[in-house]
Amino acid sequence: MIYLDYTATTPLSSEIRKTYEKLLEKYFANSDSAYSLGYEVSQMQEASREHIAKLLDVRPDELIFTSCASEANNLAIKGTCFQYQNRGKHIITTAFEHSSINNTFKQLAEVFGFDVDYIGVDQEGHLKLDELKDKIREDTILVSTMYVNNEVGTVNPIKEISKIIHEANPKTKYHVDCVQALGKLPIDLSYCDLATFSAHKIFGLKGSGLLYKKHNTTLVPLICGGQQEMGLRGGTSNAATNIVLAKTMRLALEKRQEHYDYVKSLNDYLRSEVKKREGLVINSPDDASPFILNISAPHYKPEVIVHDLESHEIYLSTRSACTSKKTEISHSLAAMHLDDEVARSALRISLAHLTTKDDIDTFLKALDEALQHLKKQR
Ligand code: PLP
Repeated sequence: MIYLDYTATTPLSSEIRKTYEKLLEKYFANSDSAYSLGYEVSQMQEASREHIAKLLDVRPDELIFTSCASEANNLAIKGTCFQYQNRGKHIITTAFEHSSINNTFKQLAEVFGFDVDYIGVDQEGHLKLDELKDKIREDTILVSTMYVNNEVGTVNPIKEISKIIHEANPKTKYHVDCVQALGKLPIDLSYCDLATFSAHKIFGLKGSGLLYKKHNTTLVPLICGGQQEMGLRGGTSNAATNIVLAKTMRLALEKRQEHYDYVKSLNDYLRSEVKKREGLVINSPDDASPFILNISAPHYKPEVIVHDLESHEIYLSTRSACTSKKTEISHSLAAMHLDDEVARSALRISLAHLTTKDDIDTFLKALDEALQHLKKQR
């Protein structure tokens, strides 16, 4: 099998699985129980929080365990909006976000009456920073942008965006979706007020996310319940999952540069091979994250190519897995205003340190064959 869809999810590392299984067996008690069994679990969960805080260079009380990054994004955005709505109801995001951001902003506009502005991107997916500068107002309470786009891999300049926001309005909170950056690019949380992470993108468990919330930022909880997570997320703690997140993040961060350099060399090779093929177009900019390469095969149906490759046990996507059942053009590619045919025929190849050059060669050969025997559809 050749797996080229690491942006959608990653296989679970065997090291993490073993640790998790041991934890599940022994540390089943409720971390909030008042007896020693519960106390021990609680201590381990707090040790994990401290460990992650050190890895991210933040305070432990700035970290909230969640069930996934989608939940963390919802809590960051709605929690901020509900808390600060007396200051204003203007919020800003981009036309280029994951559906957990897009649909949260849509809900805030349609159900809760917030005034949403969207920042556009150029044809390479780079944010129009001048637009951002112009749109920040006295009543802007939140700006949310991702760090790395999950479809084309464009990298946003977080430091520069933070500077623009905080110079225009020091009270505006800045949220960054770091899901596709964790373990891949350096992350400096001093530039943002809120940030989100997911374990299953870095060889960890599904159902495991994390929200960073700067100590001077207050949130209205979305799940009211007990004292868990400093009262910001009710529900019995998923302690074993939260405990193993520290190891998951440590492993991803320890080898970050090594993995980056390796994947960059693979991506360079893949790009050079794609460029040799007349019928293919590269949609990812040259300075994109090397972990993602978005290409198009104009006039072919991308789903047909994906299924053809699947028959050779090669797995990749046409777009984000969270929107894969939609038929219209991906909103990220639509935002880039690519040629319609190019946007409609996109394939997302995503790489990891587990990918080999042989995998790339086998994929390219299968793709060449597919393009030869599949009929052009449009
Ligand atoms: N944000 C980005 C940029 C993503 O790529 C994803 C997952 O694809 C998410 C958020 C959601 O992550 P999760 O599956 O943990 O909810």
